[in-house]
Amino acid sequence: MRFTRLRLNGFKSFVDPTDLVIHDGLTGVVGPNGCGKSNLLEALRWVMGETRPTAMRGGGMEDVIFAGAATRSARNHAEVALHIDNSDRLAPAAFNDTDQIEITRRITRDVGSAYRLGGKEVRARDVQMLFADASTGAHSPALVRQGQISELINAKPAARRRILEEAAGISGLYQRRHEAELKLNGAEQNLARVDDVVEQLA
Ligand code: ATP
Repeated sequence: MRFTRLRLNGFKSFVDPTDLVIHDGLTGVVGPNGCGKSNLLEALRWVMGETRPTAMRGGGMEDVIFAGAATRSARNHAEVALHIDNSDRLAPAAFNDTDQIEITRRITRDVGSAYRLGGKEVRARDVQMLFADASTGAHSPALVRQGQISELINAKPAARRRILEEAAGISGLYQRRHEAELKLNGAEQNLARVDDVVEQLA
C-alpha cells in the first residue's frame, strides 16, 4: 500500500489547488522556514482521519482552513485527497478488486468534515479503520512530528506501549473490541428491560 499522490486545496498555507505526485523511493521536501513542510505532513495525517486539532497545531479543526493573508481572503473550506496504489493488494481485503484507492476529506466552516472513499461518502471510522488495518494512519509511529522524539523519551510506559501497538497493527482490533463491548452492554441493558417487562406481566 503506497501513497502515490497528495492533493490539497485550501488546506492551511496551501490555498491554491496543489497536486503532489509521490514517486517510488525516498521523497524529500525541502524549503525555507515556514514554507509549509510540516503542513504537508499534517495534511497526510488529517486525510487519514486525525480528530485532534492539537495534532494539527490548532485550537479547533477549522483552523486547518486557509485563514487569509494580506492579499487573499480566507477560504470557507479545505480539502485533501490521498491516492494509494493497491496493486500489491496490501490494503485490507475489502479493497482487493481495486488497484487505486482515493480518500478525500473536506471540511466546511460550521458544517464539519466529510470523507469519501473511492468516490463514495463514508464515515470517519471507515477511513480510520482502513489505515489501522494496514498498520498505518494518523497516529502511525512512521509520522514523526517535531518534538515527538523527546516526548517519547519522557513518556510513561503505557504511552510507549500504544506506539508499539500502532506499529504492530493491532490498534484497529482494539477499536473493534471497544465497539463490540458497547454493543454487548446495549444488548445486556435491553435483556434486563425485557426481564422487567416479563416480570410485570407474570
Ligand atoms: P519550519 O521549517 O520552520 O518547521 P515549515 O516549512 O514546516 O517550517 P509549516 O510549519 O508547515 O512550515 O508552515 C507554517 C506556515 O503555515 C506559516 O506561515 C503559517 O502562517 C501558515 N499557516 C498555518 N495554518 C494556516 C492557515 N490556516 N491559513 C493560512 N496559513 C496557515
